[in-house]
Amino acid sequence: MEKILVTSALPYANGPLHLGHIAGCYLPSDIYVRYLRIKGKKVIHICGTDEHGVPITISAEKENKTPQELVDYYYEIIKNSFEKLGISFEYFGRTSTERHKKLSQEFFLKIYEKGYIEKREEKNYYCENCKRFLPDRYIEGTCPHCGAEGARGDQCESCGRWLEAFELLNPKCKICGNTPVLKDTFNYYFLLPKLKDDLKKWLEEKENWKDFVRNFALSWTTEGLRARSITRDLSWGVPVPLEEAEGKVLYVWFDAPIGYISITQEWANKNNENWEDWWKNKEVKLIHFLGKDNIVFHAVIWPAMLIAHGEYILPDEIPANQYLVMKGGKMSTSRGMALWLDDFLDRYPADYVRFGVARVLPETKDSEFSLEDFERECDTYLANDIGNLVSRVFRLFEKYFNNRVPEGETSGEYENRMWEIINSKIVKIEKNFESFKFRQTLQDIIEIAQEVNRYIDFTKPWDVLKKDKEEGGKIIYNSLSAIRLLSVLLYPYLPFTMKTLRDSLNLGEPSWDEVKNPFLNEGEVLKSPPILFPRIRGKVKEEVTEEKEEEPKEEYITYEEFRKVKLVVGKVLNVYDIEGADKLYKLEVDTGDRVRTIVAGIREHYKKEELEGKNIIIVANLKPRKIRGILSEGMLLAAEDKDGRVIILTTEKETEPGLGVL
Ligand SMILES: [Zn+2]
Ligand SMILES: [Zn+2]
Repeated sequence: MEKILVTSALPYANGPLHLGHIAGCYLPSDIYVRYLRIKGKKVIHICGTDEHGVPITISAEKENKTPQELVDYYYEIIKNSFEKLGISFEYFGRTSTERHKKLSQEFFLKIYEKGYIEKREEKNYYCENCKRFLPDRYIEGTCPHCGAEGARGDQCESCGRWLEAFELLNPKCKICGNTPVLKDTFNYYFLLPKLKDDLKKWLEEKENWKDFVRNFALSWTTEGLRARSITRDLSWGVPVPLEEAEGKVLYVWFDAPIGYISITQEWANKNNENWEDWWKNKEVKLIHFLGKDNIVFHAVIWPAMLIAHGEYILPDEIPANQYLVMKGGKMSTSRGMALWLDDFLDRYPADYVRFGVARVLPETKDSEFSLEDFERECDTYLANDIGNLVSRVFRLFEKYFNNRVPEGETSGEYENRMWEIINSKIVKIEKNFESFKFRQTLQDIIEIAQEVNRYIDFTKPWDVLKKDKEEGGKIIYNSLSAIRLLSVLLYPYLPFTMKTLRDSLNLGEPSWDEVKNPFLNEGEVLKSPPILFPRIRGKVKEEVTEEKEEEPKEEYITYEEFRKVKLVVGKVLNVYDIEGADKLYKLEVDTGDRVRTIVAGIREHYKKEELEGKNIIIVANLKPRKIRGILSEGMLLAAEDKDGRVIILTTEKETEPGLGVL
């Protein structure tokens, strides 16, 4: 059986994840491995935190922690976020393990002994104020290629080029801002030019790669290939395994990709598998998922390391993504501007986040994320097209068949049309899954759901069932079978909800056989699923008026229940912006008893001065909750009109703060 080894770029353990990380790498890889598992392939998905390097020591200094404390802290945070988002790794390891250190040192020694590494005397930047050498990111300056400010001593984030610190114009010490001086030292260089021909030949064969990945790598191989320093004067990292090199560690970009192997060893060790069956087996297909800023390392440096070493397989595919952009800038942890994944997971179900990001995956060019589009698309596609399809079919199924699958012909005028369209889509979907086009695939799956909705609109089972139960049963049978098909196709994108849906269909792990034959067993009794996708925004108008009678009844609460809600009048004292949250204000509100802080999403609708001094109505006994790191102690009441404009509720006459509302 074909074996596929999938890796996702190792996230740096120096900060939490943001949506840019997810879109660049982890969601596409997870969609892909889930698809492969449905296909019955033997696949392992390997990832872990990258715990060495200057970004770690800089963050540790900033947070007043030791590097080890910092990476321990972020390892847990990152691992936890991935779990909540449903990213399914076979193993999520880390690079600060003994195993990793040992393997990295062996790797270094092997290519050193083969003559691909050379010791070179050189001058490096040294800060006389901080009394230390300043490796890569401890220096910032102007990029000599694109002129961007704030380029780091190892790479320019703006144009993606790999730099050496001495190339930077106007270099400054990152710690104290002083201009550093050059001082004698030595480092070890990886002799890339020796591998140029092998690399070029290997890259030229990769004709099926995304153009921007292959072109970038090829042009780098032609123009940018020179010996690169792979050691640093630093105490945190994998020590260079040579006596003469005391006080030096491997450059993090040398040891990090070796992490793919050491983490696989870790996985194998815990699961009674043989790691060499993966890394030393030519039959295995190796696929690296990563973001644009990692292309150089994975498509040039790492393959060169592997060629130099000689015992391991080389990557077959590098389906890198471009950047997810918000409001004109890249999301980046190092620049402190980001949509944090954990904030999203606090506010929305994980599948909504997966869906919203999958809709805008930057597969061929940068793409933009907007919160408004995100919420609207979740409502339109998840709640209406998919969720409503399931509930409208199950409502009739329960009412007329008591959830027992009826007999059903699968041919007929409308049925033939629907299945033909679905089957032609499946051919396309399969092809696009294989070629990493997950955005288009999702679109095609949504269109299948829309086609099933159309089938129901045309055939009007709610009318047919009143007159002809057999004919109506046929529509229900075909619709339910199409829903089953959707539960397989959507599984890579929406694993949590599709599991719920499949539980109600009495189905376990999905398999591609179901796509080929989605028809349910007649006579089987299914369970009605809960509402799969509650709407985020206000109610959307019911599109099928004939179904009105099926609408669930309004739910009432008792007066006693309502009495529990404590509403009071509050006077707005001050209004503040919240950095990075362009829809939110932080309000300071006098509610009689004290001044409360309330976070409210009304920034797009009110100027600060329109709010200050105003009497508003507050739910005073709502459990306080942290929003963007601010404890919000209540909720203000507002109305929303049909254009989505928000109008806050206020008192008709001037009143004292703290007045109870009847
Ligand atoms: Zn640049
Ligand atoms: Zn300094």
